[in-house]
Amino acid sequence: MSNVPNINRRQFVAGSSGLLMAGAVHASQAAAAQPEGSKLAIHGGDKAVQQSVSYTPRWGDPEREQLEAMLRQNTLFYWGGPQTKLLIERFREYCPLEYVHTCSSGTAAIHIAVAAAGIGLGDEVITSPITDIGTVIGVLYQGAVPVFADVGAGHCNLDIEDVRRRITPKTKAIIPVHLTGNPCDMDAIMAIAEEHDLIVIEDCCQAWGARSRGRPIGTVGHFACFSLQNSKHVTCGDGGVVASGDDRFGPLLQRFGDKGAARGVTREGGGFRAFATNYRMSEPQAAVVAGQLTRLEQIAAQRARLGNLLTEHIADIPGIVPHEVHPEDRAVYWFYMFRVHPDAFRINRDDFARTLRAEGAPASGGYIGVPLYGEPVFREHGFIAGRWPVKEFGLTEMDFSTHQCAEAEAILADMIRVTINENMTEDYILQVAQSIRKVAEHFAV
Ligand SMILES: *Cc1c(COP(=O)(O)O)cnc(C)c1O
Repeated sequence: MSNVPNINRRQFVAGSSGLLMAGAVHASQAAAAQPEGSKLAIHGGDKAVQQSVSYTPRWGDPEREQLEAMLRQNTLFYWGGPQTKLLIERFREYCPLEYVHTCSSGTAAIHIAVAAAGIGLGDEVITSPITDIGTVIGVLYQGAVPVFADVGAGHCNLDIEDVRRRITPKTKAIIPVHLTGNPCDMDAIMAIAEEHDLIVIEDCCQAWGARSRGRPIGTVGHFACFSLQNSKHVTCGDGGVVASGDDRFGPLLQRFGDKGAARGVTREGGGFRAFATNYRMSEPQAAVVAGQLTRLEQIAAQRARLGNLLTEHIADIPGIVPHEVHPEDRAVYWFYMFRVHPDAFRINRDDFARTLRAEGAPASGGYIGVPLYGEPVFREHGFIAGRWPVKEFGLTEMDFSTHQCAEAEAILADMIRVTINENMTEDYILQVAQSIRKVAEHFAV
């Protein structure tokens, strides 16, 4: 049942110029009665989202306080730096792990973890193809092989059964990505890891403040990796944190983020026991992060509330698959995503998103353009000067150009992303939900 406005086809097409109509509008539908307020904004109706979001600055007094303290220091170096110490102390309030090391990015955090885990030539690391490319950069730099497993239809995190299918004798680790801050099924992943003696590196870059069955995100696997890039929940422009509670790996984090130099131990007989690049974070960044962390609980709680509220109000719309979150988890919605079933609407995903934007909703189609294995650098195996020595030396048979993850590809084709931000109100989210209902009802098949 759809509420198609009472206009003729010519007006309809004119009003939706720019829209690629998936199918013609039937005269019988066009003649249907039009309830008040249901006329689409693209047809000159009122926008469903009338409110605007008043964005407050993301930084202020807490950051200023730390930056001023930093300016009174006589060092800006991380080792022994007071800002770095404070950052680590505040980080542990969210992720209480024994070993915590600051670094220059989320990509760096994951690279450090991969190196500290001893993952090397030809080792296979199973991860998701819907993620930031930073998830696998360190894997490739260490000469290991990312193996992309498919993801679940509703949560878009690793599909546990597909992870199992992709395990081989070469598999050394799993990198579960808590996409959008929605926790992966860590109990299932740890069970597989135990069974096959695998290391688990949690990519928590989008998951600041999330909880998996009540446990702080990052505390279930062997490593936790966070990004402090500008778009993340808390930031210093660029930065990262890598942490571990495991005595085998934790003591190695610092050296793998700091040119292989084990600081604070005697250099007798030479100090470089490992080979690594310089991924250090300096005190100015740490000062900003220490300030930012005082804001995190409010940011995470508000985003969790707003995202769950949106689900509550769109879950019953036919053809819409809301963001699936386990009821005992806390998802912190780096963004919200829902899927539009391709057969349920007379317009395609991009036009659905465009129509929502016209309604005032902060929506856009998709996330990354293609699954990671579909990126040219993967399809061409052009990682090191246009070549991939690991494959040339016969250490892997991986062929990214023929790799497939059906669900991941379907998700990227039919998902719509909705911005969630701590400055949004519940009323605003209810209007966003209303806009989704309005567009869905209008274009329902
Ligand atoms: C942002 C992000 C990264 C990389 O973090 P950078 O700080 O940009 O290097 C890795 N994985 C995920 C899931 C991310 O969102």
